Parts: sequence; structure tokens; C-alpha cells
Amino acid sequence: MNRKFDDQIVLVTGGSSGIGRATAIAFAKEGAQVVIADIDSIGGDETIRIIQENDAKAKFIYTDVSQTQSVESLITSIVSTFGHLDCAFNNAGVSSQTKALTAESLEDDWERIISINLKGVWLCMKYELLQMQSQGKGIIVNTASTAGLIAHAGHCAYAASKHGILGLTRTAALEYAQTGIRINAVCPGYIRTPMLERGMHRDGGSNALEMAMIAKQPSGRLGTAEEVAETVLWLCSDSASYIMGQSIVIDGGLSIQ
Ligand code: NAD
Repeated sequence: MNRKFDDQIVLVTGGSSGIGRATAIAFAKEGAQVVIADIDSIGGDETIRIIQENDAKAKFIYTDVSQTQSVESLITSIVSTFGHLDCAFNNAGVSSQTKALTAESLEDDWERIISINLKGVWLCMKYELLQMQSQGKGIIVNTASTAGLIAHAGHCAYAASKHGILGLTRTAALEYAQTGIRINAVCPGYIRTPMLERGMHRDGGSNALEMAMIAKQPSGRLGTAEEVAETVLWLCSDSASYIMGQSIVIDGGLSIQ
């Protein structure tokens, strides 16, 4: 049986949880050898266990995407083990757990979010692109957010990081358009993952925030990590061969209102 990603080496950052885990599993089901890069080794082992249960292949490499040496050694290790890197999903990210107006936001929170979400994506792209250029091909998908398209009141650093990812995606897509490398982004809306669950229940046990989020959704429900994964796999497939520098919104209609 021919599967879409047979013999391909696919990197998923943030693959120990949520959207990254669902995408790593989806790639593995389609034949890819998946490398999961994350700071959460326990979650990473769980993703590997699920993938191996399906008789597919995966490897965990401890990586902090905000640290140059960590990202450089991740790519070196992938290339020395497998010889090449076909697709990279730069998805690791964090959100702010407290809401604050821009003038009241804390510098530590700003530094943490920008260094993981924005610098982390740039660092991953930097070392992935060097390798993909030497191969003459490669595909990159970055996780932005609807918070990269519209305002996200109370979360200025997160919104700035996600707007920044779209600028990086478009710029690199243009720079490398003639090198066989395609770069795009996904913009998820409210997707039910551990990150969103933490945010929705930050006021204790109440479901009030969750109900308020669902009420804003034209679709009448939250999205699933698997729905984002499907879009990432499509962007990484030959079916999306003429798509460059785009941001695909997966939000159940949230941002069209
Ligand atoms: P999640 O918390 O379930 O998963 C995030 C993963 O990133 C975790 O495994 C975590 O350990 C990892 N991570 C955090 N810091 C890291 C670092 N420095 N280096 C390496 N890995 C690190 O969250 P999720 O909802 O699956 O989020 C995945 C991505 O999707 C994030 O970039 C997030 O901003 C984005 N996103 C999520 C939603 C949503 O509603 N869930 C919406 C829009 C965008």
C-alpha cells in the first residue's frame, strides 16, 4: 500500500501534546518517519508510544526551540541519523496564562512568549532551511493563530508573536520560492488542546469561559487537533504544490464575523 509520506523524514516541534501530537500521529499513519522535538519528554514518550502502537516509526529528541544550540543540534542529529529532512512543522508554542492590558503586561511574560513562539520558529526555520537548501527541496509549515490575523485583547505578546510568524513565513517563502522549498502557515482558532483547556479553566473549575468561547463560534463548537493536522498534511503534500507563503485559517468561521 502506497501512503502519502512513505520514506519521508518529518520534524514536528511541540509534538508532545495537542496539535503537534495529532499531527505527528497523522504523518506517521501516512508512512513518515517522525521526529518529535519538545521540552516535555514524558509527553513525547506518550506520542511515540501511540505511534508505535500503530506499527509506525517515531523518535523523540529533547529540544528547546528558543535555544540556538538546541535547535542546531536537533537538525544535525536528524541529518546524521536519516540523511535528509523532507518536512518540518514548526508548532511548539506557549500562551500567557493571565490576561493583561498592553501597558500592564509583564516584561518576563513578553520575553518568554516572544523567545519561544517567534524566535523559536525563526531558529527552526534557519537550520531547516540550511539543510533543505543543500538538498534542493523541502516543505515547512509554521503554526501561527487567528491571533496572528486579528487583535487578541489581553494577550499582546501572544498576538505579536503570531503576527510575527506570518511575516517570517511570507518573507522566507518569497526568498526561497525558486529553491524547491515551500513555506506556509496555519492559523488555528479555538482548538481543544491542553493549552486551550488551561486557558479556559484558569478561573478554577467553572465552564463559563468555555461556554463563552463556544458561543462566539459560528460552527457552534471548538475545533479538534486532528482538524489542524489534516490541513498541515495537505500543505506538506504534492496537492499543495503551488501554495507558497499562505496562511490557512482553521477556525470554524470565527474570524469571518
Ligand atoms: P499544547 O500546550 O498542547 O502543546 C504545545 C507543545 O509545545 C507542548 O508539548 C510543549 O511542551 C511544547 N513547547 C513549549 N515550549 C517549548 C519549547 N521552548 N521548546 C520545545 N517545545 C516547547 O498547545 P497546542 O494548543 O497544541 O499548541 C500548539 C501550537 O498551536 C502553539 O504554537 C499554539 O500557540 C498554537 N495555537 C493553538 C491554538 C489552540 O486553540 N489550541 C490556537 C491557535 C494556535
